[in-house]
This record gives sequence, C-alpha cells and structure tokens, in this order.
Amino acid sequence: MALTLYNTKSRSNEVFTPLSDNEVTMYACGPTVYDYTHIGHMRKYVGDDILRRTLTYLGYNVKHVMNITDVGHLSDDADTGEDKLEKGALREGKSVWEVAQYYTEYFEATMRAIHVLSPAVTSKATDHIQQMITLNEQLVEKGFAYETAQALYFDVTKDPHYGELSGQKLSEKSIGARDEVVEDPEKRHPADFSLWFKRVGKFKDHTMHWPSPWGDGFPGWHIECSAMSMHYLGDTIDIHTGGIDHIPVHHENEIAQSECATGHQFVRYWVHHAFLNVDGEKMSKSKGNFYTIEDIRAKGIDPLATRLLFMQTSYRKPLNFTWESLAAANKLLKKLQRFVATQKKNGVVSREYVAQFTEGLCDDLNTAKALSVVWSLLNDSHIEDVDKAATLLSFDQVLGFGLTEVAPLEISEEAKILVVQRDAARQAKDWVKSDTLRDELLALGYEVLDTPEGTVLN
Ligand SMILES: [Zn+2]
Repeated sequence: MALTLYNTKSRSNEVFTPLSDNEVTMYACGPTVYDYTHIGHMRKYVGDDILRRTLTYLGYNVKHVMNITDVGHLSDDADTGEDKLEKGALREGKSVWEVAQYYTEYFEATMRAIHVLSPAVTSKATDHIQQMITLNEQLVEKGFAYETAQALYFDVTKDPHYGELSGQKLSEKSIGARDEVVEDPEKRHPADFSLWFKRVGKFKDHTMHWPSPWGDGFPGWHIECSAMSMHYLGDTIDIHTGGIDHIPVHHENEIAQSECATGHQFVRYWVHHAFLNVDGEKMSKSKGNFYTIEDIRAKGIDPLATRLLFMQTSYRKPLNFTWESLAAANKLLKKLQRFVATQKKNGVVSREYVAQFTEGLCDDLNTAKALSVVWSLLNDSHIEDVDKAATLLSFDQVLGFGLTEVAPLEISEEAKILVVQRDAARQAKDWVKSDTLRDELLALGYEVLDTPEGTVLN
C-alpha cells in the first residue's frame, strides 16, 4: 500500500516514493539539551517514531539520523539572544559540557520510557564542527556568505528560492524583523543568518569554541543540521522532520545553505509536527504546566499512555493535553496490554485487519483511524481472542505499546476471594451484593467481565 504524506514544501498530500528503491533516508531535528524534556517534546519524537515505524512496517529500510544540539542554538531561533547551553550552565552552576551531558541522558531516558526507537545515528553537534566548517567554506567560495567583525553570514538575497518553504517573501521578512534589536550593524539583511559566530563582543567569553578560517568561535545552529544530514545521508534525503515552529527560520535556512552549497535538492518530503498545549494554554515553566515523565509516573500513569493519547489526534493538528485525557488513554492502554497478556501466543494475524490498520497509517499517518481499527478488532465477535492478540502484536510494531512485554495479570488473594463471593452471589441471584462486589474489584483496578464460566478479571 502506498503511503501518502503531507509535504510542507508543496502544501499537499503526496504519494511517498524514496529516492532509492527500498531505503529511506530520514533526518529529524533533535533536542537542544539545556533543559528537561517535557510532554511537548515527547509528542514530537513519538511523531517521528510513528513515521519511522510505519515505513518499516511497510517494508522499507529506514536510516534515521538525529542530531543533539549542544552548541550554537540561541534563545531566539533567528540568531539573537544568548546561547541556550551557556544560559543553562549559568543557571545551574555547571559547565556547558556537564549541562549537555545531563540533559542528553535525561532526553534519552525519556525516549526509552515511551518506546521511541533510537535513531540509527544520534550525534552531537560538537562532534561535527569540521563538517560545518567545510560546508561554510563551500558557501564562502560560491559567494553565498560574507564576513563581518562579529560573524560569518549567509546572504539570503543571493538565494532566489529563499522563503519557498514557508511561502514568506523576503520583503515580508524585513517588515517582520523591523523591531529586531540590531546586534550587528554590518549585517546586510535582517533575514541573513549566522554560519559562524566569532568569539567577540557578547560572545567573547563563550566556553565552547574552535578555530576556523573566520577566527575562533562556534557554529550557528542551522548549519549543524545541514552538515550532519549530508554527512550521514548524502546531499539529498527523502524525509526531514521537525516542529512547525521550525518552518519559517530553521528549515528555511537549512534548505538555503544546503542547496546553495551543493546545487542539489536537499529534502524531498518535509514533515512537520503540530504543537501540544496544556489545559488550553501554551506549555511554559512560569505557568507551572511544564510536565515531564516523572510527573506522569507520579500520577500512577504508564508513560506509554502518552503514545496512545498522541495517536488520537493527527500529528498535524494541535493537541490539548489534560490529565483526564491521559488517564483515559492509560485505561485503554492497560486494557490492551492485559488482553494480549492473557492470550496464548499461537494466534493467526487477521490480514483483513492489518489491511485496514495499514490503510489508516498510509493516509498521512492517520493514527486516529489506525486506533479505531484496534477497537473494532477488539469488539469483533467473529474473531477468536487468540487471533486478536496475534493481530494486536503485529500492530504493536507501529503502536509501540509494549504489548509483548506485559506479563499476565496477577490476581491478588483478596481479589480471588471477592470473585468466589461474587459468583456465589450471582448464583443466588443476589444482584445487589454482586454489584457491590464488582465495585470492590473495580476499585482494586481490575476490569470485571461476566462470562458463562463466571466472573473473569482483566
Ligand atoms: Zn535542525
């Protein structure tokens, strides 16, 4: 079945075909490791993971590369403000290297907890300074860059295609940027962006720095993704992902510098993820609605429930996070996990349901549709439970709900006694008592099913 993806570049759904046969090259903008990973980030990486797992499910070999930004990302994406890592170091009284290490580990632990598969390559920006310098040199040679006392800039006016991804004209960018504090009087156009920051002025004490043809300094944030994507995947890649906030600046800049340096198309399909809001508001530390994996665990919720929650909404639509919706997703997740755990593992996968599930995913990763196939399978009385379980295990290659790992349900001694009492009450047609006992079992966290053989817990 052919996968259709919404390509930001063409602003339309396109049938996905990789450049080379069965191999898919995919680059995902990774985290800037200066603070805790929160559920907003989790949504983005689960989105990448679903895309990657779907491609694998369809039979492609996916080479997935992700960067870890540990240098050069300023507090404003358009190169103004302070370096995020330096800011983090100052706040915590640690070195920038320690900050990067700590938050990289935190990020990776979060990803493991929500079953986001590790990319084939995860690599730090600071390990690719040479590739960035080389790319910058190519841009200088070809006349796309200029140097000031403070930095090396990409000259956006030299690129006739600049702005095509976001559909913004350069003249509109100038107007948009009119309130920008002019930090470098030699910068020619407000949309010009830094390829290399010199260790002068406000950056004279910058901790991370390397020698370069433009003096001691550090790379701009945008150049890192181009350099790393090309280094691992070649000049042209199939898919590039990121948050929608990256469209107008970061990705526009990535395209400009990559295509001007190589003369080749940089990315064939641009996939962008929408935001997650919390209780109707943007997530922020100051509002106290910035949630991490520990907050989720503290509420007794399995972090994997976030995957199910995210999948209920298209990756292209904003998602409003509430604890109620996550708790509801957790209940559904537990139901699925317990169902599979109680079945024997010798069922037959339903091809009909796999086809429906795949059809949902192939519709621009319509995960809500794919989930609806999960629920109709569960409710289908024509399919044996053991075959349902086998089919769910097949789906789990994409869902990532950990259905293979869940141990069969353990029923406590207390619950066993309640079940015996309840079956006796039902035999005696004492419905009031039977209902009371059911409520007690529900309170213990079991799902209570009435079957011809009596009460069954799930
Ligand atoms: Zn990037």
